[in-house]
Amino acid sequence: MTGGGRWFAKTLLSSVVPVLGLAFLAWWSAGAALAWAVAAVGFLFVVVVQIKQLSALAAWLDAPEGTTLADGSGRWGELCRKLSHKLRDEADSREAVEGSLRSFREAMDAVPDGLVIVDANHRIRWSNRAAGEHLGIRLPRDSGTMIEHLVRTPGFAAYLGEAHTAAPFVVQVPAARTRVYAVRVVPLGDYNKLLVSLDVTDERRVESMRSTFVANVSHELRTPLTVVAGFLEYFTDDSAVDADQRQQFARLMSDQTARMLTLVDDLLMLSRLEAEDAPASEEDVDMADLLAQLLAEAQSLSAGRHQLYLTCHGQALRGNRKELHSAFGNLVSNAIRYSPVGGDIVIEWAVHHEKGVFSVRDSGVGIAAEHLPRVTERFYRVDRGRSRETGGTGLGLAIVKHVLIRHQARLAIESEVGEGSIFRAEFPAWRLTSGQTGPRAQGSPSL
Ligand code: ADP
Repeated sequence: MTGGGRWFAKTLLSSVVPVLGLAFLAWWSAGAALAWAVAAVGFLFVVVVQIKQLSALAAWLDAPEGTTLADGSGRWGELCRKLSHKLRDEADSREAVEGSLRSFREAMDAVPDGLVIVDANHRIRWSNRAAGEHLGIRLPRDSGTMIEHLVRTPGFAAYLGEAHTAAPFVVQVPAARTRVYAVRVVPLGDYNKLLVSLDVTDERRVESMRSTFVANVSHELRTPLTVVAGFLEYFTDDSAVDADQRQQFARLMSDQTARMLTLVDDLLMLSRLEAEDAPASEEDVDMADLLAQLLAEAQSLSAGRHQLYLTCHGQALRGNRKELHSAFGNLVSNAIRYSPVGGDIVIEWAVHHEKGVFSVRDSGVGIAAEHLPRVTERFYRVDRGRSRETGGTGLGLAIVKHVLIRHQARLAIESEVGEGSIFRAEFPAWRLTSGQTGPRAQGSPSL
């Protein structure tokens, strides 16, 4: 018997049978008239009870929390209990589904890629938080809007209409002009599409830096190579050049070759610095000794055209001597190359506010404020002609910047056009060691 049949039989037994029993007793003791009367009253009572229970059930269904079921026992009580369980089970499973949906939405919002579901007419059905940042979609405001009306990059609508290609579409949304996104379309079911957007700004920037770098290097090498190739042509025709010219050309070729070698050396140094995060080895660098070496090199480069001064107070510096020598050497050589004849150059090592500070001050051409933020970029030059004339590669300050970063130091530049510049490399206190570096001062006019 089914649940319904069982319930019918039990209800019949518990309500109809007692009435019939009473009617039978009445007929047996007092005759048919009383039996009919008992049966009528009995059935009326049963109907009223059923209607009352039915009304209680209807009230409870309307507001299950506020109302209690009138009769907690008997057939109706059993029915109501079953109903109540069923409703509770349904509420539980609805809550579970809502919970899973909430977790799913949270997970989708945490995904860094933008996700948008559109229908066959490109109307937005759903999107995650990243899609808001990438493509400017906000739900529920944009639900049902055609995505082409929000992403107005030319060609986007046509791209969406195309058969799905592996190539992504590059989007630059006006709201986020500085960022670039690549959008891919993935078919979803028979009609819908899933749009996946990826932030490719950094990749694009690196790619553009790489190609600019290759173009710069090629350009830098091409100039001296063209000069050397030109002279070599003369050499092939023996009669065209006499011995003096030959010597002069050889000197010029040697200058150009030296320029190329310097450039290649700087490039190799830079690529080594970029390849590893930290110097391979460190030692306590005796700064007095290093500064003496720098001064000797500066004297050779200046060839007596500048006044060179050196002061050295403070402790030894923990770091990679070769890298520090290269960075400080670049600052000193710049001071000489960008200072007119007779200019003063002061090289100093001292401790200021617990920091180790290496500085080079010159009275040279100076740098205009608008160039200062860019001078440490590779191949950035304020005066291209002067840089080339003086044998610059455009990589010196980029090398300085990398070496300082590897030593947790920072570069500070102060400069005034026509007055001169001061370049300071500031090292953290923990890099200062107690190694010997006594007070030492030298002025070069006498040297
Ligand atoms: P370069 O080999 O051209 O000198 P750097 O990277 O060393 O390349 O310097 C970048 C640019 O910064 C230089 O081209 C120059 O214009 C400017 N600069 C660097 N040092 C000085 C300085 N001491 N005085 C004036 N300008 C400087």
